Amino acid sequence: MLQVSGLRSAYGRIEVLHDIDLTVGAGEIVTLVGANGAGKTTLLKCLSGTQPVTGGTVQFEGADITGLAAHKRPGLGLAQSPEGRQIFTSLSVAENLRLGAYNFKDARVASDIDEAYAMFPILKEKRNLPAGGLSGGQQQMLAMARALMARPKCLLLDEPSMGLAPIIVQQIFDVIVSLKARGVTVFLVEQNAYGALRIADRGYVMETGRITIEGRAAELLADPRIREAYLGV
Ligand code: ATP
Repeated sequence: MLQVSGLRSAYGRIEVLHDIDLTVGAGEIVTLVGANGAGKTTLLKCLSGTQPVTGGTVQFEGADITGLAAHKRPGLGLAQSPEGRQIFTSLSVAENLRLGAYNFKDARVASDIDEAYAMFPILKEKRNLPAGGLSGGQQQMLAMARALMARPKCLLLDEPSMGLAPIIVQQIFDVIVSLKARGVTVFLVEQNAYGALRIADRGYVMETGRITIEGRAAELLADPRIREAYLGV
C-alpha cells in the first residue's frame, strides 16, 4: 500500500533522513520506533507531504506521490491524525468531527460520526463541549476520530501515546488494533517501542536518520539489541 524507496530529506543543508526503504502492506499495522531526534516525525511529514523530499520516492497504492501536495493525499486515502493533536479547541467535539469529513455528504457523515462515538464513547458524552476542555487522552481520541472521518485506507499516527497515562495508552492501542480489524492500514510512529511492537505486525527501528533493524514485531520484541536499547530490559 505504501512504499518508501531510497528516501532522503533535509533541513536546509543538513540531511536528516538517509536512504530510507520501508513498506506498509494493505491491512498491516507497521510501527517505526526510535529515540528522540532519530527522524521519525520527519519521515511522517514526508509521507503526509508537509516536508520536502530531496531524494527517493514515496508510492501509495502503486502511484508515485513523492511530490504530491499534502492536501491532495487524504483524498487518495492516506490520512494523518493531526500532529500534536491539533484539534480546534474552541469548537465542540462534534464540530471537530464534522470538520474531518469536510469533503463528504451529510448522510454518510452522520453515520461516520455514530461510528466514531461507538469507538470512543467518551467523545459521545462530551460531544457538545469545547474540545479544549478534554483531557490529553480524550484529545488524542478526538484527533484519531477526526482523521478517521476521512475514511482513510491508510492512517499515519505520530506518537499517539505520548504523554498519556498507561491506562489511556492501552485504550489508544486497543483502538488501533480495532482499526486493523476494520481494514484500515496503520503506520504507527512511537517512542513507546514495547506497546507499539506488541500490537504491530512488523516494525522498523530508526537511528540517526537510518533504518537499522527491521522485522516481524514478535522477532523485534525478542531481539537483544532492541530489548537493551528500547525496552529497558
Ligand atoms: P521526536 O521523537 O523528538 O519527534 P523524531 O525521531 O521524530 O524525534 P525528528 O523530529 O524527525 O525526530 O528530527 C530529526 C532530526 O532533525 C533531529 O536532529 C532534529 O533536531 C532535526 N530537526 C527536526 N525539525 C527540524 C527543523 N524544523 N529544522 C531543523 N532541524 C530539525
